Amino acid sequence: MSLPQIQLPDGTSLPAIGQGSWHMGEGRYTREEEVDALRQGLDLGLRVIDTAEMYASGRSEEVVGEAVRDRRDDAFVVSKVLPSNASRRGTIEACERSLQHLGLEQIDLYLLHWRGGTPLEETLEAFEQLIDEGKIARWGVSNLDTDDMQQLLELPGGAACQTNQLLYNLGSRGIEYDLLPTLSEQGIPVMAYCPVAQGGRQSRYLIESEAVRQIADRYAVSPMQLLLAWTIREQAGRRPVMAIPKAVQPEHIRDNAAALTLELNDEALAQLDEAFPPPDHKQRLDIV
Ligand code: NDP
Repeated sequence: MSLPQIQLPDGTSLPAIGQGSWHMGEGRYTREEEVDALRQGLDLGLRVIDTAEMYASGRSEEVVGEAVRDRRDDAFVVSKVLPSNASRRGTIEACERSLQHLGLEQIDLYLLHWRGGTPLEETLEAFEQLIDEGKIARWGVSNLDTDDMQQLLELPGGAACQTNQLLYNLGSRGIEYDLLPTLSEQGIPVMAYCPVAQGGRQSRYLIESEAVRQIADRYAVSPMQLLLAWTIREQAGRRPVMAIPKAVQPEHIRDNAAALTLELNDEALAQLDEAFPPPDHKQRLDIV
């Protein structure tokens, strides 16, 4: 069965669920468990693996690198430059450090982690140089709200942006008001972070809600699967969002991969809208 995909503006298709790696390399699990987890995800078709120079100061990139090194073609590796490094020269140097941590020759998608003091055009020039040198294949951004996104798109070369990585889940729907429509108009997919609201205690208000429990029971799936299927649902006939849940426990990874094939019907979506309504006014961009 072909897995639901999202499409980047450059035509690349990617499975709509990938894998995060924040907190990997911090000793919460052994390195072997983390590497095995990412490999298990790859085996199940979770091709996109997200990391960042910030995560465990490069040790998350090392875990990701180890997981993909001998199966490079199975993976689509995303990393990010910190805003404090996002000057023209700083971005190039940060990318070279990330490549070293990853042990790879190229990053598939390189993002500005969030907007800082550096003018966007400077970071963009560095991204273009990195593409010319073959160190990254494409670039995008993260945590940019609508006004910043509009500024970026107006810059020369700005339309080459491939994604905006944003916090998005059933309990945090603010981007649906104007940011998601703006991105969709440009054919730029959202990469949803915290799609299961960070799991554990933080996600309890969602997974213990009556609507989520009832619908999960109806589909005989776990509440987390339901949250993921909701995040990557079709909207206005398109699939504008992919999700990058982070999971190390094998049963979590299996659960997350199974969400790829779960389609929620209109009745379920309406019930979830009632319990967790979409925004009716502009909201401040949610971040962690
Ligand atoms: P997530 O919403 O992905 O939650 C991760 C937590 O949920 C982990 O503790 C994990 O447990 C647990 N979990 C995952 N799947 C399941 C499941 N099926 N059932 C029960 N528990 C589950 O939060 P993150 O903050 O990790 O966000 C995802 C990724 O997005 C990050 O890892 C990172 O790559 C990226 N990110 C980007 C940001 C940005 O600013 N651009 C900011 C934050 C995150 P366990 O690991 O024990 O299996």
